[in-house]
Amino acid sequence: MKLKTLLLASLFVQFSTAQQHKDVKPQDLYATVDFLSSDALKGRETATESERIAAQFIQSKFIEAGIKPYFDTYFDAFESKGYKGVNVVGYIEGSDPKLKDEVLLLGAHYDHIGFDKKVANDSIANGANDNASGTATVLAIANRLTQLGTNKRSVIVALFSGEEKGLLGSKALAKKLKIQNVDLYTMLNFEMIGVPFTDRDYEVFLTGYELSDLGNKINTYTNSNLVGISDVAKKYNLFKRSDNFSFYKEFKVPCHTISSCDLTNFNFYHHVDDEIDQLDFVFMAATINKLIPGIVQICNTDSKEIQMYDTK
Ligand SMILES: [Zn+2]
Repeated sequence: MKLKTLLLASLFVQFSTAQQHKDVKPQDLYATVDFLSSDALKGRETATESERIAAQFIQSKFIEAGIKPYFDTYFDAFESKGYKGVNVVGYIEGSDPKLKDEVLLLGAHYDHIGFDKKVANDSIANGANDNASGTATVLAIANRLTQLGTNKRSVIVALFSGEEKGLLGSKALAKKLKIQNVDLYTMLNFEMIGVPFTDRDYEVFLTGYELSDLGNKINTYTNSNLVGISDVAKKYNLFKRSDNFSFYKEFKVPCHTISSCDLTNFNFYHHVDDEIDQLDFVFMAATINKLIPGIVQICNTDSKEIQMYDTK
């Protein structure tokens, strides 16, 4: 009996170590943000050589994780308002013969504003929180989903160019997917998720929380109070100010941004001091690890449980 208990205990330890091993780690997120927000990338302004280096880096992360390109190549080039930008788009095919035609889109913009007003001889807007943090988050989630291999619905993983120039990359991709008649179930966009709130009973807010039951569903699926409402986000209608909105406009399905920054807890929005030392990677990893089972469930429910509220 004792031996059996011991055996079971040792199995449990092995199992939980294996589980932990697969959790998203702070150092992985750090490495991605470190590269994207380095001075060498000069603030990743849309359609610059530096932004192209960031795109190549994202492509290398997809290849490393075994994520396939959604189109013929990972690079989805577009031209808009005089900018030649490139989205980087990966694909994790669903395992269910029927549900795989339905798509969850995970997105974040990887571009930033380039150079900005000089402070103490520094003019590079590194955009660590905005939005190397969101990019690192999406890459980490996609990597984890690929390792798990349990998603019944398919997942498109999109890192957008041109957000800072007016959501250009996401508008181009949303139009393209609409023309291809993609059955978009829901879209989760990530923005500025590297600095925690200190005054909330949730970790992240959802822009446009009141428009659909996505927030409620994530909390139910994760059995937590992970996602909440930000009055500031509502006041400034942040729902319309990031790439989720491009997809909402085309598809009219739940498309929201997840963020931990509504500008009340971060002083360096579009500022040269938005640098890696401002970010809390332990918080980021913990939040992502809490969210992942919710994302898996979004991929796997029998029906499309997440719906827009009827606001008529
Ligand atoms: Zn942003």
